[in-house]
Amino acid sequence: MSFSALRLSKHLQQALQDNGYTHPYPIQEQIIPAIRDGRDVLGIAQTGSGKTASYVLPVLMDVMESDLLLNRHIHTLVLAPTRELAQQVNAVFQQLGHKLPGRIKSLAVFGGVSINPQMINLQGVSILIATPGRLIELIESKAIHLSEAKMLVIDEADKMLNLGFKEEVTQILDLLPKKRQNLLFSATLNEEVTKIQSLLLKEPHLVKVEQKEDNIELIKQTAYHVTPETKGPFLRHLIKSNEMKQVLIFTSSTVAADKLSEKLERNGIDAKATHSKKSHMTRTSALRDFKTRKLNVLVATDLISRGIDIEFLPFVVNYELPRSPKDYIHRIGRTGRAENPGEAITLVCDEDLHHFKVIQKKMKKWIKLTYTQDLHF
Ligand code: AMP
Repeated sequence: MSFSALRLSKHLQQALQDNGYTHPYPIQEQIIPAIRDGRDVLGIAQTGSGKTASYVLPVLMDVMESDLLLNRHIHTLVLAPTRELAQQVNAVFQQLGHKLPGRIKSLAVFGGVSINPQMINLQGVSILIATPGRLIELIESKAIHLSEAKMLVIDEADKMLNLGFKEEVTQILDLLPKKRQNLLFSATLNEEVTKIQSLLLKEPHLVKVEQKEDNIELIKQTAYHVTPETKGPFLRHLIKSNEMKQVLIFTSSTVAADKLSEKLERNGIDAKATHSKKSHMTRTSALRDFKTRKLNVLVATDLISRGIDIEFLPFVVNYELPRSPKDYIHRIGRTGRAENPGEAITLVCDEDLHHFKVIQKKMKKWIKLTYTQDLHF
């Protein structure tokens, strides 16, 4: 299926293309039409499934098609349990919505920072992403009104209830108009979430996305024996001789990731590093460029790799081994796809040999080790 089958505007389809979204993820195929039909939705899905865009896209469509609202009245409220999620969701609204006609303004508000700048920024906002406590403060100061809201999204409902926001959520529900569309997302469907869903949703369209197991059978795995001195030159040789246009390289530390990407750059290979010490903006733009193939090489650490969600990668390189076999499988799992199995390449020095054996044993798969000392590179 393509995004054009999902009744999205041309501008939105262009925004998707610009950001490297080539086709909809399963959750998006199932949820977007239901939301466009005006139905309530219950989405049981984890981060990584594409759940955010599954509501961001139809919300943007609805805002574009709606009449202008009074100032300080919002069209859509997204409730998020944490500041991080609120900012992440707003980043997706801005990524996909910033070039749309009519300038749709979204804003994330959360506690722990001064309220005044948020009050000023609320001017002209039609999509508000908020943590419950700060939202109530803003409503009490009459900085924002919910009385004309058309859509309510509660994201990560299980976490919201775990963090003890039940009372605040109930208070907010009372301030919203009775007639509205409700979208509820949760990683799990526990008793508390079931209670809130029966209170909130009318005949919801239920979509459940199972976490995909990494299928390592589809991946071509190779390993090369190198020395600490030949590792760098051999990696550059691999990238150049295989004409790699999109390769994700793993290092074990943020310092190593920076060093390696700088070295590659100095050798004429287009590379950037992404890790926990980089700003959110830098990480987002590196990932966007990598997904759209403007950037050939992304160097990452294991921690950050969990947020790198690319359906398929032709090449993954383990420049340094991960600590656990689980991380190894998670890393290489980015490349396996039936119609086009990618390749996972591991560089192994003498001191890694034992650990690499442990990884293979756990994986129950043996990888041929090719020695490189006789190769010319
Ligand atoms: P989420 O589960 O909403 O946190 O999304 C996980 C990641 O998948 C984010 O980095 C999105 O940018 C990315 N993503 C979502 N939908 C698509 C898509 N259709 N094509 C490519 N990337 C996507």
